Amino acid sequence: MNIDKYEEAILNCRFCFMCRHLSAIGNVRHTEVDTPRVRAAMLYGLRTGTNSFDDGDFIDALYRQDLSACCVHHCVNHYDENGLALAARADVVEAGKAPEAVKALAAELAATSSWKMAGKGDVAWFLDATTAADKEATAAAKKLFAAAKAAPATITGGCIGKALKVLGFIPEAKAAAAKFAAFLSEKGVRTLVVSNPAAYDALTRDYADFGIKLPCKVLHISQWILQSKIKFARKPAAPVYPIADDFMRNYDGLDAPEKLLKALKAETKPFGTNDEETYCCGEGAVVLDRLNPGLVGELAKYVAARADDPKKDSLVVASAYVKKALSAAGLKAVTLEEFAAACL
Ligand code: SF4
Repeated sequence: MNIDKYEEAILNCRFCFMCRHLSAIGNVRHTEVDTPRVRAAMLYGLRTGTNSFDDGDFIDALYRQDLSACCVHHCVNHYDENGLALAARADVVEAGKAPEAVKALAAELAATSSWKMAGKGDVAWFLDATTAADKEATAAAKKLFAAAKAAPATITGGCIGKALKVLGFIPEAKAAAAKFAAFLSEKGVRTLVVSNPAAYDALTRDYADFGIKLPCKVLHISQWILQSKIKFARKPAAPVYPIADDFMRNYDGLDAPEKLLKALKAETKPFGTNDEETYCCGEGAVVLDRLNPGLVGELAKYVAARADDPKKDSLVVASAYVKKALSAAGLKAVTLEEFAAACL
């Protein structure tokens, strides 16, 4: 089974409650089943025969996880309870026990895996569907490219494998990834700038895990802005609350967002009660808003309750997914692109 690769997490997390406060779903549902300890205990039970994928509640718990990777990031031993959860989903799918809604979403995503490139050159910007739906973020990125006198080709299209992987559909995820890599190769892309941290994580980590070689260097747009030498004419008008991104902080250990805010001379304030938990409303689960929008709404309300002044505080996030979720709860959130473009 896929979960066998996560022996340490199964054996250790099932007896540990140290990171329970970082389980976003547990925090809003007030349920032990939504903590790494109980999930690991249930998966241990799967191996010993006291639990089975025939239990719908068990499957629901696995597909409810926000996958922020906060627990593994802050665990003193870095036991990979997040990788365990992803592996468990892959086992559910392999066992033919994925819920109908998950299967339907995976089929829908797999059908979107094709892309178009507008423009020419060996530098391209991947405008994924989530970012493309955010008109302000998209316009801001274009303003930044113009300010840098850069004219990257723009790639639009559907799933490059990340959401399929997160849902546990590994062969389908690999197929989408291989197709996207071949597309980049055919188009002669040598540098790919991405706005969506989930896409960045897919391209820089998942593809390597799948054994898929990319023909290009991949930069998150915050990294690209930092190296672009754009002259920013003004300082941010007011202090901001940066929201640490699930993928960039917990999965990829990338500090480009923090460096960018510093380069822009932003005055930053710490958000919430601690800097360990996630305020990203299930970003790591990529399509949690499609599978369980009510739960994402609860996560956003939980975040709003931790703002100093929910109606006035300005939040800066790294992804359009997080912006959409937090905005729906009445918070003022902008993406890094928007924040940087406002300083031009
Ligand atoms: S990830 Fe670490 S802190 Fe969390 S339950 Fe597992 S062992 Fe405990």
